[in-house]
Amino acid sequence: MAPDSKTHHNDALLNDENSEQSDGKKFKARVQWPNVGVNAFIHAGFFVGLYYLLTLRPLGLTYLWFFAITVLCNLSVTIGVHRLWSHRSFKCNRTLKLILMFFYTMAGQTSIFHWVQIHRVHHKFSETIKDPLDFNRGFFFAHVGWYCLSYHPECEKEMKRIDMDDIKSDKDIMFQYKYYDVLFTILNIVSVLIPWYFWNESLVVAFWTCFVSRFAINFTQLNFTNSANHFFGTRPYDKAQSATDNIACTLFSFGEGYHNYHHVFPYDYHGAEFGDLGHYNLSAFLIDFFATIGWAHDRKKVSEDMIKRRVLRTGDGTHFLAHEEAHKTSIYGYGDKDIEPEDQAELENMTD
Ligand SMILES: [Zn+2]
Ligand SMILES: [Zn+2]
Repeated sequence: MAPDSKTHHNDALLNDENSEQSDGKKFKARVQWPNVGVNAFIHAGFFVGLYYLLTLRPLGLTYLWFFAITVLCNLSVTIGVHRLWSHRSFKCNRTLKLILMFFYTMAGQTSIFHWVQIHRVHHKFSETIKDPLDFNRGFFFAHVGWYCLSYHPECEKEMKRIDMDDIKSDKDIMFQYKYYDVLFTILNIVSVLIPWYFWNESLVVAFWTCFVSRFAINFTQLNFTNSANHFFGTRPYDKAQSATDNIACTLFSFGEGYHNYHHVFPYDYHGAEFGDLGHYNLSAFLIDFFATIGWAHDRKKVSEDMIKRRVLRTGDGTHFLAHEEAHKTSIYGYGDKDIEPEDQAELENMTD
């Protein structure tokens, strides 16, 4: 049921008026029809599950189960495949790793190997044809379109080139890679059978809510980070990057919406300047909690000075530090001692 990343590889090179390959040939993406089918089913199916949820068809415990696995799957993406495996922004023990792998596999966003590969290339080549999620190809492409098309050959080259040695040397991750389809299927059958077996939920209700709608929410949370978070919002840390800070995305993704910050400092385990619940950064808060109980360690964090230097050098002026700096020389009116001496002299010499 997960978008099939394997079908993206080894595609024929066709024509496209938008981009050229390094050999000068024109490129046109090929539609990946199986992925189009999965996307259509998941998005339409979400509303079936939503209908059941809104008409109070599930039992009380099913609501709890639905909520729990939706949140845990989302967190396995933000904490696990994103901050831990893609960016190596902290390390963890095997217990936490296996828990994250369990819910990440249930979330169904391809194997960890493929997710990391795609994400690292996205960070290295944002705003270019080499980026699998290239925002220049439009909102829809960055949101779900890229799942449904073959990769640009220049992107495929980088996918093969990107450093994946750490992932390849991890036996647990490579086990998940090898048996991904089987593991995904088993875990999602389990997600539907648990409400049916333990509290006699209807299999139909459990399927549409705990599998389809839940899957769609997990999938959409990721997609908005790739799309909206490159189109709408502020760029406090680097105005030259497409990635934005967007509070709506932050709320929906447990702290992943500080995407401008994240593209500037991808090795920061906060994924943001601030890692507390006041900034809706549940992912960072939980990594700190795991560190407290000894499950996480080696957390990488950017210093305040590093952030301030970068904000002043490349930010778009929306950062509060930038405001503070900017206001140091702001003028309240005539007579303000911050008026430049030459300006003051000129003002004094003005006649009516
Ligand atoms: Zn990232
Ligand atoms: Zn991005």
